[in-house]
Amino acid sequence: MSEWLWNIDRPGEACGVFGIYAPGESVARVTFFSLYALQHRGQESAGIAVFDGRGILLHKEMGLVSQVFDEQDLLPLQGNMAIGHVRYSTAGSSRRLGAQPFLLESALAHNGNLVNGGALREELLARGVGLVSSCDTELMIQLLAGAPGDTWVKRIRHMMTKALGAYSLTILTRDALYAVRDPWGFRPLSLGRVNGGWAVASESCALQTIGAHDIQEIPAGQVVTIDERGMRSEMGKPPAKSSLCVFEFIYFARPDSIIDGQLIHEVRQALGRELAKEHPVDADLVMGVPDSGIPAAIGYAQDSRIPYGEGLIKNRYIGRTFIEPSDRLRKAGVALKFNPLPEVLKGKRIVVVEDSIVRGTTSGPIVELLRRAGAKEIHMRITCPPIKHPCFMGVDMATYEELIAHRLSVPEIRERIGVDSLGHLSLEGMIRATGRHPDRFCAACFTGGYPFEQKAGVLVRTAQPARSLVEG
Ligand code: SF4
Repeated sequence: MSEWLWNIDRPGEACGVFGIYAPGESVARVTFFSLYALQHRGQESAGIAVFDGRGILLHKEMGLVSQVFDEQDLLPLQGNMAIGHVRYSTAGSSRRLGAQPFLLESALAHNGNLVNGGALREELLARGVGLVSSCDTELMIQLLAGAPGDTWVKRIRHMMTKALGAYSLTILTRDALYAVRDPWGFRPLSLGRVNGGWAVASESCALQTIGAHDIQEIPAGQVVTIDERGMRSEMGKPPAKSSLCVFEFIYFARPDSIIDGQLIHEVRQALGRELAKEHPVDADLVMGVPDSGIPAAIGYAQDSRIPYGEGLIKNRYIGRTFIEPSDRLRKAGVALKFNPLPEVLKGKRIVVVEDSIVRGTTSGPIVELLRRAGAKEIHMRITCPPIKHPCFMGVDMATYEELIAHRLSVPEIRERIGVDSLGHLSLEGMIRATGRHPDRFCAACFTGGYPFEQKAGVLVRTAQPARSLVEG
């Protein structure tokens, strides 16, 4: 079955994970609703694994959470603990084989990407381990299966010494649920209490959705064990240079999630206020490109005192389908996803706030839609600096060539997308809006300063000389 994704030019993320230990609770059903709340992190496939007291039961399939599970699928998944996963598609990978959780002796769900995946793959193959997919998740579960140690925590620690890169994991064994965050803390991972038990999730919004309380973030490098004795957190590997992905604030995370103690919605409004200070313009209306551009547009309007309005309506239900569009519909492109409001836009000078420009394939058509709807001037404002460097930590922008800001200057991009002016937020402005110290973040896609040494596999060949985050 072929699949059609209504592609929008955004940095693609690589997954959401969930785990629950709650005897007496319908753990598969709770996992289902949590994955629903994490759907924005990945729409390619979804899966749930449950330990039923004898073995691990698994159901996973291609598609959205609502397409993968119905009542009949959830019914057999009975037990005291479960993990779940939603996956973002990565080009070229064998899609069905990449669906998670992965199941061996344990079940494992992973958000992130290993930068030494190639070397680990060779090492495992040399040991005679058969690999069936191109996924790092399979490497991790095989590392875990072959790790020395008489306890799971020892085995997880061994895996953490081998795996270099981004990983927030939930692991289900016969005895316990484990949650693991890499020593750099690239991807978020939160923990909360639910109905006498515990749950972990990529984002706090999923925990709030299921009524969890006492929500806290799992620190980098920690291994959390949850079993009949309760919850324990211990060091898996000492924290490395703090490298929380700043794109969680700009685009990935849901606005109602809290990451590093900051509400994402508030950070996005602050991004807009910083943009208004750095790139003011005379205009009649500020609007955001839905959804992530909207809080920033509100912030821009607050600071500039230009009225805020909605000029584009997004069809929120068109994400992914197995129905191929006709050629005529395919050409309609972003018009299938966004509809402009001519009554709002006609004759106006508008500021359009967008979260990012990655490949530059969406901005031009959006600008065209707005012009056709009567906008007189279009001033585009972007809530992050130009993305000039690829990401090796699991975000779907892996090569220099695909990045428009690597090939073109800002004036050239302005001309290419057809706007009257184009302004990117500076690195300093972006970090200021997060309310955190610059050293907290990975911002390698803006600066080229990767958190790994140059000997780290693929980075040896592709990384630009590292620059400090504050230098920009
Ligand atoms: S390179 Fe960019 S997208 Fe990748 S982890 Fe770092 S900040 Fe996030």
